[in-house]
Amino acid sequence: MFDLSGKTALVTGANTGLGQGIALALAQAGADIALIGRTEPEETIEKISKFAVKCVSIKADLGNAEAVTDIVVEAVSKLGRADILVNNAGIIKRGAAIDFTPEDWDAVMNVNLRTLFFLSQAFARHLISEEKGGKIINIASMLTFQGGIRVPSYTASKSGVGGVTKALANEWASQGINVNAIAPGYFETNNTAALQADPKRNAEILNRIPSGRWGHPSDLGGAAVFLASAASDYIQGITLPVDGGWLSR
Ligand code: NAP
Repeated sequence: MFDLSGKTALVTGANTGLGQGIALALAQAGADIALIGRTEPEETIEKISKFAVKCVSIKADLGNAEAVTDIVVEAVSKLGRADILVNNAGIIKRGAAIDFTPEDWDAVMNVNLRTLFFLSQAFARHLISEEKGGKIINIASMLTFQGGIRVPSYTASKSGVGGVTKALANEWASQGINVNAIAPGYFETNNTAALQADPKRNAEILNRIPSGRWGHPSDLGGAAVFLASAASDYIQGITLPVDGGWLSR
């Protein structure tokens, strides 16, 4: 039920962090992998090489939604098929709402939401033209549910991810396409480097996590494989928290 042999997964932003953790888990479950991003994912390719799957990289700047239309075509030409899309790439800009700039608003919204939507659209068009189902997994956040502090465009984008996940599930479920999201809690990656380095915020965050530790990228693997596999065929539009209990507090 969780076996992904014979499937191909496209993972954005997989040279590091959560995207790398997700790509490794999908490869371990048997999927061939296309790593999509602007930085050559050498470390991820090396780590995936221990699994008996194919792995290719596709260069793309996901800050520009117009540049994403060829990604699915390139993945299919390199790996023969496309079944799973993980929209993981994301950025965060920190600043008080009172001073926040249009540039920091647009940069975050473009990568985290606009590209996520248009890459999903290109992927769904491919699946529908092939008359087959597939899986889309969006990476949301605790700020899909909460307001956050000093990250207004990030909150807007990740709240939008939760909404778009439901909207796309409503439109595409009948065609065998599952659209769901994972909401990571606080994970040790570049995205949270500023929080980890701030002793006060670090302690506040740790005190609130029932599991008592920051998440590691490998902690997301189980949820990603579940939502990518036949085990979740009747699950649509959800945002699944993987947060060590953060939202339960
Ligand atoms: P990360 O280590 O900073 O990784 C972000 C990834 O997105 C990198 O691969 C990055 O590539 C890629 N990316 C950013 N802008 C891009 C662009 N314009 N074009 C192509 N790729 C781009 O952070 P992370 O924590 O793993 O974040 C992954 C996802 O999880 C994001 O959507 C983030 O919002 C979400 N998330 C993280 C946490 C957490 O606690 N860490 C919590 C909730 C949600 P480069 O290396 O080339 O910049």
